[in-house]
Amino acid sequence: MVLSLPPDYHVHTERCGHARGAAWEYVTAAREKGLEGIGISDHLPLLHTTTPDPVLAMSRDELPEYVDEVIELKERYPGYVLLGIEADFNPDIAGETADLLAAYPFDYAIGSIHYLEGWGFDDPRYADEFDSRDVNAVYREYLELVGRAADSGLFDVMGHLDLVKKFGHRATNDLAPEWERLAQRLADAGVAVEINTAGLRKPVGEMYPAAEVLELLAGAGVPLVFGSDAHSPEDVGRDFPNALELARRCGYREYVTFLSNREGRAAKRRRPFPDTT
Ligand code: ZN
Ligand code: FE
Ligand code: FE
Ligand code: ZN
Repeated sequence: MVLSLPPDYHVHTERCGHARGAAWEYVTAAREKGLEGIGISDHLPLLHTTTPDPVLAMSRDELPEYVDEVIELKERYPGYVLLGIEADFNPDIAGETADLLAAYPFDYAIGSIHYLEGWGFDDPRYADEFDSRDVNAVYREYLELVGRAADSGLFDVMGHLDLVKKFGHRATNDLAPEWERLAQRLADAGVAVEINTAGLRKPVGEMYPAAEVLELLAGAGVPLVFGSDAHSPEDVGRDFPNALELARRCGYREYVTFLSNREGRAAKRRRPFPDTT
């Protein structure tokens, strides 16, 4: 088997209530597709609601089982599987999030913004609210929160950096200066970004982040990883050749891989892009 595609660091499992397949099935898929590795990154239990939503994340009780399950896979496939997690950033409960992230031996944590002051803007059930909002204000609020998440030190990768475009809502103002500031902020914070291919499977029909944003990130020297945000094993590594191509066009020449947390959480290795993609 030729290992020629970067690891997929963003996949979910059936534990979150809106995905199919167990962690081992995602690992099998990654091996079959010739990925260099895989990080399982299911949703951290939601901390900001008193009543957990069973279709959004595993419960807190289930978190230790998730961790054990992935650690077993790490042992079965040493150096191939990593234990990740995707966590929401909510500045009001950053301390609680930090405690939960510190309680388990995660190899890396993806920080994502799915809520603006309680509004789940990427949830189709609540997407109508865009109609009653000023889209430019939504973008600005979102970008500021991504920056704060990066500065928080909680995360190693910022997830789907321009998720706010998911349903096709576009800022009408030129936000290039804001994006440029954010790119510098991410570089200063030392966090990586992902090319997340799931956007191709959403109404917006393009990867996160957009090419213009990726160019700014490459220019600022923000490290890059790859993620499919698969919610079923077939989607592991989906569109990675196109993602490599996009990254190359935007100025990237290397990506990073994480090591097991025995080397320190989010210890990284730099990898050149494969010659042919
Ligand atoms: Zn999900
Ligand atoms: Fe997400
Ligand atoms: Fe995700
Ligand atoms: Zn996600």
